[in-house]
Amino acid sequence: MSLVDQSEASAKFLRAEANRCVACGLCLPHCPTYRLTMSEADSPRGRIQMMNGVASGHIPLNKKFVQHMDRCLTCRACESVCPNDVIYGQLIDEARAMIIAAPDTITSQTLAKKNKLRVFLEMELIAKPRRIDSLRSPIRLFQKIGLQQWLLQSNFLKKTKVQSLVSQLPPVKKPCASTMDQKTLATGWEEVYPAIGKQRGEVGLFLGCVARLADAVTLNSTIFVLNRLGYRVHIPFAQTCCGAIHQHSGDMAMGATLALQNQKAFEALNIHTIITTASGCGVQLKEASVGQTSKASGYNDGRDSISTVIDISRFLVTAEGWDDVKIEPLPYQVAVHDPCSLRNVLQDQSYPYTLLARIPSLRILPLAGNDQCCGAAGTYFLDQAEMASKLRADKLLAVKLSKARYIATSNIGCSMYIASGLQTTDVEVLHPVTLLARQMGIQ
Ligand code: SF4
Ligand code: SF4
Repeated sequence: MSLVDQSEASAKFLRAEANRCVACGLCLPHCPTYRLTMSEADSPRGRIQMMNGVASGHIPLNKKFVQHMDRCLTCRACESVCPNDVIYGQLIDEARAMIIAAPDTITSQTLAKKNKLRVFLEMELIAKPRRIDSLRSPIRLFQKIGLQQWLLQSNFLKKTKVQSLVSQLPPVKKPCASTMDQKTLATGWEEVYPAIGKQRGEVGLFLGCVARLADAVTLNSTIFVLNRLGYRVHIPFAQTCCGAIHQHSGDMAMGATLALQNQKAFEALNIHTIITTASGCGVQLKEASVGQTSKASGYNDGRDSISTVIDISRFLVTAEGWDDVKIEPLPYQVAVHDPCSLRNVLQDQSYPYTLLARIPSLRILPLAGNDQCCGAAGTYFLDQAEMASKLRADKLLAVKLSKARYIATSNIGCSMYIASGLQTTDVEVLHPVTLLARQMGIQ
């Protein structure tokens, strides 16, 4: 499809889908940006009307338009409550693709026109996550000799995006080693982690890009629990980033390319259950597997996958083998944070609670304000730091009022962003499966 055809397909989709919005306004109270600014232009209804206007040529694609699109978190709270099932997630992706395709003279001063460094990082690092694996040892050294701490305390980085990233990076852990002598991949992970005891099935594990570095704890815990329940875990070497970062910044082609590469990587091993531990990646892989992402722009080849993409909590709730494992009690309180991707799109938000209920003596409660985004939202916390920080402040207050010892969340982006605001407290932010694995004896 040529660029002209693709732009026309995109505009046609935008007009048709935007026209399905009946402007009832039921989504407005659920929109975090509308709640913060009280501006119609920062509401789902307002954004949809603007997209329609631009796609129809009635209003110009100018800096103001881009600013209101940039301010959207893509949390999809609006989509989850829309009585007319307007697919807002695809609308905002298409609107961003339209912005990226616009002439530089219109949008050069906006966030939507990414700088060269960012494009380079997205293409050469995020989209090639084995390069991220090669950063593990130097980053561990950087943390071990106290350079991370020094950088943060010295104010050397001032209030830059790099400072924000460095402050959020948790202690980087190594991938776990299996109990058998397995082939270790160049990624540091092993290609197979064998089941322990009675064999109950085979699954694939999606590593992600940032998560394989920053959230090895959750991935190691996932492998530990699955193996002990009797599941053999496969980690295909050829898997890559899920493509969400590219997709949501308007690069639909790269989003679709990466999704397809992942499908092929798992199917080449004849693995048809793909487990995700970050709900943001889970949404991207799941929607790509049913041909939903980027269809409007014509990038998706319409190839429905035969694989099932499933969040780890949901998988474990219905898994077998629980009678064969021992779970130690934990007499503390955990507040569960529902990531937007888990709640508004996958609608799997009940599973972490059910899973955590397997831990004896643990008191489980929902974190207040779970219907509102924490502000992390992919790279939103970097691009819209002020808005993101206001949203996080609400979460931090909810954490304080909950008096919980642990905050359980199923998305690494939310986890890092919330945790970076809690560094002076004893509250620990972690994935539900990590808490479970600890009570099952992981070292
Ligand atoms: S709830 Fe749906 S139909 Fe109503 S204004 Fe929002 S997007 Fe439009
Ligand atoms: S995706 Fe979230 S921030 Fe964007 S319009 Fe919908 S509710 Fe508002």
